[in-house]
Amino acid sequence: MKEFDKMGIEEIVMGIKSQHFKSEEVLQFFIKKCEENIDYNAVIEVFDDCLQKARDIDDKILRGEKVGLLAGIPVAIKDNILCKGRKMSCASKFLQDFVSPYSSTVVEKLEKEDAIIFARTNMDEFAMGGSCENSIYGACKNAHDKTCVSGGSSGGSAVAVALGLCPVAIGTDTGGSIRQPSSFNGVVGIKPTYGTISRYGITAFASSTDQAGPITKSLEDNEYVLKILAGKDKNDGTSIDNDFGARGVKQSYKIGICKELKEKIERLETYYNFKGAIKLLEDKGCEIVEVSVPHIVNSLACYYILTPAEATSNLARFDGVKYTTRSKTAKNVDEVFIKSRSEGFGREVKRRILLGNFVLSSGYFDAYYNKAKKLQTLLKKEFELAFQECDCILTPTTPNEAFEIGGKINDPISMYLEDLFTVPASISGIPAISIPFGKGKRGLPLGLQIMGANRTEKIIYDVAKIIKGGERDARI
Ligand code: GLN
Repeated sequence: MKEFDKMGIEEIVMGIKSQHFKSEEVLQFFIKKCEENIDYNAVIEVFDDCLQKARDIDDKILRGEKVGLLAGIPVAIKDNILCKGRKMSCASKFLQDFVSPYSSTVVEKLEKEDAIIFARTNMDEFAMGGSCENSIYGACKNAHDKTCVSGGSSGGSAVAVALGLCPVAIGTDTGGSIRQPSSFNGVVGIKPTYGTISRYGITAFASSTDQAGPITKSLEDNEYVLKILAGKDKNDGTSIDNDFGARGVKQSYKIGICKELKEKIERLETYYNFKGAIKLLEDKGCEIVEVSVPHIVNSLACYYILTPAEATSNLARFDGVKYTTRSKTAKNVDEVFIKSRSEGFGREVKRRILLGNFVLSSGYFDAYYNKAKKLQTLLKKEFELAFQECDCILTPTTPNEAFEIGGKINDPISMYLEDLFTVPASISGIPAISIPFGKGKRGLPLGLQIMGANRTEKIIYDVAKIIKGGERDARI
């Protein structure tokens, strides 16, 4: 059998279209790999009835009919993305039996191009977390070391790609949930400019920062899928048209290093790796410039005020009445709400609901929520100014390589600190990618983050390609 997990997306599509191999063969290969790697806990359900879809694509090709850009590509989706008729639980006990009544725009776009949505991936409950341990399905294990976390919240999607269980998986990123697990598992993950991908049919806990995005092995595959997913959608008022800034592509770029993060980065064990990337970019003709984003250091505090506030409001609808499991012991209306929510939500979700209620309460609203909102506006402006001085800003994706399972689960603050580098792009809405670069002390993958101005994904990919090209030349 062909090793489809070593092939790029376009190569697989070409092979299927030209009848070198069948869509059914490709799907069977990936289903088998999912079964063989079940112990990683990355894929929580394989839709075994989808083989018929693969056969339909093969028949279409035999009849000489036109097929889409993702013909026969098996895609795994995070467990917070609706796919009609399939379960979607957000890895929560509360939604364990929920069946999607309709498909998200993301799924519709993929299916329109003849992709096959074949699996559901593990995540932190309601996408809150950075380790994929807050899940009713249990922790997802790192693709490179089973004793370590996969990262989160889209841990299942990143591990599935890293292990070659699918050519592409879709994740969502509110504060780093695509980029951080991509970094921990050595794969490519992008959070596009806010609004680029419709959020219709995606369950996010903080809608004002959440974006879906593709996780893939290569940059080429990533860009290919992003283009398919992007576009304004009548069902999501915050969605935008994005041309990815193709006109801004140049021979060499001005790479910004954020002055305010310099000291923090220098203290990291992985500093040598970051320095290596800068040297490589310089060797490739890029200019390194220092830029200032004064309030970037306050991003983490700002994020952990704004997003719990949104979570409190977004999750209010889960009350045991319409969507979620109702408590069996509730005796009256109040008890339906109270007991259902108490039994249904996990610890981290409850923590954020409490936090959110606190920062929104009348006595503290101005001191916390309003102040964080002001800081967000300031940060957006600071980034705009910084991008007048450079084409993109480079940081590590995470402060460390993947940590041990259980290592931080009882210490929420240290878990939140892991998001140091990823949350600034989230609260500012700007695009950011994580690409694999080098290894940490324990030999686990590390990632580099490239952030760009709004609607400049093409530039981000281009800079990433320079780094990956240089890495190959230097054999790092
Ligand atoms: N780790 C972050 C958090 O727990 C990111 C979550 C996300 O992006 N969905 O909020």
